[in-house]
Amino acid sequence: MIVEHVQTSVRKEATEITSIVEEHVKNIKSGIVVVYVPHTTAGVTINEAFDPSVVEDLLNELTRLVPYSSHYKHLEGNADAHIQASIIGSSVTIPVENGKLILGKWQGVFFVEFDGPRNRKFFIKIIEG
Ligand code: ZN
Repeated sequence: MIVEHVQTSVRKEATEITSIVEEHVKNIKSGIVVVYVPHTTAGVTINEAFDPSVVEDLLNELTRLVPYSSHYKHLEGNADAHIQASIIGSSVTIPVENGKLILGKWQGVFFVEFDGPRNRKFFIKIIEG
């Protein structure tokens, strides 16, 4: 199991981690890689990495759907972040062939922070076969 770290700088932020994941699979002939985020207010997703306004829209719309508010039962003040993290999810699985992630032309892997800034980690698990 590989551990990587992300330092986020604002409360809600998407950080592209495609190259970090790809670096770890470069010697894998065939298999899958699981990227897993062990946090309750951050997640991981795959979406367009070419136009940065796509992930900006994603964060803006998740904020509009689940606004920061005091009406939630969870009293820590970050209930919005918990809900947004569950919507995004905590893992992605990507096929690997000949040392490359099998991603579409425009796809990238993003660590998505909902309650930053924080020092975060994510796991990379490679299964060959
Ligand atoms: Zn909380």
